[in-house]
Amino acid sequence: MNAKTVKLEGGLYFVATPIGTARDITLRALDILASADVLAAEDTRSMRRLMDIHGIALGDRPLMSYHDHNGARARPRLMQYLAEGRSVAYASEAGTPLIADPGYDLSIEAATAGYFVTSAPGPTAIATALTLAGLPTDKFLFAGFLPNSKSARISAIETLREVPATLVFYESPKRIGAMLLDCQSVLGDRKAAVCRELTKKFEEIRRGTLGELAVGMKEKPVKGEIVVVIDRVGQSTVNPSDLEADLRDALSRMTVRDASDVVAGAHGLPRRKVYQLALGLDRDNEQADDG
Ligand code: SAM
Repeated sequence: MNAKTVKLEGGLYFVATPIGTARDITLRALDILASADVLAAEDTRSMRRLMDIHGIALGDRPLMSYHDHNGARARPRLMQYLAEGRSVAYASEAGTPLIADPGYDLSIEAATAGYFVTSAPGPTAIATALTLAGLPTDKFLFAGFLPNSKSARISAIETLREVPATLVFYESPKRIGAMLLDCQSVLGDRKAAVCRELTKKFEEIRRGTLGELAVGMKEKPVKGEIVVVIDRVGQSTVNPSDLEADLRDALSRMTVRDASDVVAGAHGLPRRKVYQLALGLDRDNEQADDG
């Protein structure tokens, strides 16, 4: 057994757990799981399995279920344990609690009540995917899961179009094909990576443009857990004369605003920059017509 029993101060301990490989857990996380007075988990069966693998006995300590659907009911009990000065360890099913996982309300409530709240950091699929995607990591925006319905998904992607940071999404294998196509149509054919089954036996990273990845999904669909990483706006290496030709063509059929939106999306360029260019071309056209 790697864990040792330690004296823990009363308070709330968020514990990150592996996202695949069981040994991706920190020694401190094991110590906390071995020592906390009370354990709480999003999925008590996964928690028991993890403790078994690492030789940690539950003994007569309570193991409570705490997830999105019972949070309001379960929280008062956990708060009562904190009020009694007990140490409470909480883990979500996999990875870091609160990251697309439960724990936010508990964290706020415990901190607001003045209890000691800490985290034993560890794996999260966000950081693991960023490490492997082959895209810039200096600035990134984690956008969680996109909505299921196409129209809501498109609207959500539109809000991210101008963000000057690498975009990170969680996605399901059922929706990945549609999601990649919607991202391509709104963001342009940016570079991206589909990172699947990270730290597990069938770990796979597919890199390419959004369009290439979408085609790949049709040819060889994927299973398992997925993170999609997409390059930021403005990384397109479009030739200026191609850009101008596309804009002129779009301007012959659309308003300046619509033409800028369509061309900026197609080339993955900032809308404002393309709009300025479109305004200039439109002015040239008007002057040519007047003359
Ligand atoms: N709290 C977790 C974390 O820190 O990453 C995320 C929990 S969220 C409910 C589950 C989603 O995370 C999955 O649907 C998938 O998008 C992503 N994910 C979790 N584990 C993964 C893995 N091993 N490989 C790829 N994606 C993973």
